[in-house]
Amino acid sequence: MTESQPSPTPIALVTGASRGIGAATAVQLARAGYAVIVNYHQNTAAAYEVRDRIAEFGGTAWAIQADVSKESEVTALFEQIDSLPGTLKVLVNNVGVLKQQSRLADISVERFTQVLNTNVLSCFLCCRAAVRRMSTRHGGQGGAIVNVSSGASKSGSPNEYVDYAASKGAIDSLTRGLALEVADEGIRVNAVRPGLIYTEIHADGGEPGRVDRLAERIPMKRGGRPSEVAEAIVWLASDASSFVTGSFIDPSGGL
Ligand code: NAP
Repeated sequence: MTESQPSPTPIALVTGASRGIGAATAVQLARAGYAVIVNYHQNTAAAYEVRDRIAEFGGTAWAIQADVSKESEVTALFEQIDSLPGTLKVLVNNVGVLKQQSRLADISVERFTQVLNTNVLSCFLCCRAAVRRMSTRHGGQGGAIVNVSSGASKSGSPNEYVDYAASKGAIDSLTRGLALEVADEGIRVNAVRPGLIYTEIHADGGEPGRVDRLAERIPMKRGGRPSEVAEAIVWLASDASSFVTGSFIDPSGGL
């Protein structure tokens, strides 16, 4: 009789996890038993706080800085993950930015490129690195990828941020295409398309009170909490959704 080997600790990488939906997702994944990488870009103190919150309830987390829109930094991030005890099982591509509310006619090429690089190139780079590790075709043991898109991919965000909406449209197509490409290689790829969620992203667009202003338009008449999006992400990452791939969940209160 062979002795059964303890299965390696499952690792989950959440990009942009120092605040908002990413932070809530990191905490919930840790509660679900994953060792979590809290990736962040600039706010070290906030990322450490998320890491410490996880440690407080006995979870495992590492805060790792990397600008995931840069190929070299994504390479270094995944090499660091390779050196950790455990196996990468979950990737949540949560990073997303938007800029000052504007009409398309006033958007510069520099801004458009920055938004697309941060929101789409980052997702491509992290998906590529994860697939190379998770895919059975590459000798991996499978895994789950959850991309954070937005209801903006359908609304187009006129008069606010068409560049952001276009980046989320690209995330939807990438999700569907990659899901079908790796469906028989042990990897499921899905996405969430949140509606209006109370986070600091709206202040970056110049309107901190945006969710409250638009709440009347939401069928449920309220904005969402980051934890309500995180619940959907964790479900898509878990074996509970084992026959779900190429799919989208819209935590949006019906918007
Ligand atoms: P948020 O509060 O603005 O947080 C953004 C996070 O991304 C921060 O942790 C930030 O890290 C990180 N980040 C930004 N650029 C990065 C980079 N280049 N590399 C690594 N990390 C980077 O955002 P949120 O509202 O939680 O949104 C999370 C996701 O949900 C985004 O994809 C967003 O588009 C999507 N979404 C949000 C809403 C909403 O209403 N909030 C609705 C639909 C979709 P630092 O602070 O350390 O720089």
